[in-house]
Amino acid sequence: MDTIQIKDKQFAVSIKEEDILKEVARVADEINRDLAGKNPLFLSVLNGSFMFTADLMKRITIPCEISFVKLASYQGVASTGAVKEVIGINEELAGRTIVIVEDIVDTGLTMQRLLETLGTRNPKEIHIATLLLKPDKLKVDLNIEYVAMRIPNDFIVGYGLDYDGLGRNYKDIYTVK
Ligand code: 5GP
Repeated sequence: MDTIQIKDKQFAVSIKEEDILKEVARVADEINRDLAGKNPLFLSVLNGSFMFTADLMKRITIPCEISFVKLASYQGVASTGAVKEVIGINEELAGRTIVIVEDIVDTGLTMQRLLETLGTRNPKEIHIATLLLKPDKLKVDLNIEYVAMRIPNDFIVGYGLDYDGLGRNYKDIYTVK
């Protein structure tokens, strides 16, 4: 399938599964090398990163743990608009080596919020692994050590990412036409 239609939008395939998996394997190799002996705790950010997380973790060969968090939007009391709250952290993070596993870093504001929240629980170190990065959109200064792929500013779906709840199931990544 080279093109798909989701609701009002058409998407064309832009990154095939085999190319995604090559980059995911490279990131896994880097993490295996860098974090050996640290028993990292991978924190996968649902929903978007479920496919990336599964493919990444199959290639992580060092002892590690994995857990899942979610960002819940709620309306701030002031005029700050939607604020995201991190839910689902049940593990003790103090003294741990954490690897955040995210689907895409766009402006970076979501990642910044995650780092702030996790930072209050005194982890030893926090690393970031993202499937995708839109470097031109990044607004905040983040040290993203593990990036599978850098992409232009266009909206994408597939491989876990959605458009209005749809499209997460596709094995390839599609870009809006
Ligand atoms: P940020 O806070 O970095 O601007 O946005 C991160 C979040 O925006 C991602 O976790 C994802 O949910 C959403 N997002 C950003 N760009 C895209 C995109 O191209 N496609 C999809 N499906 N979601 C995106």
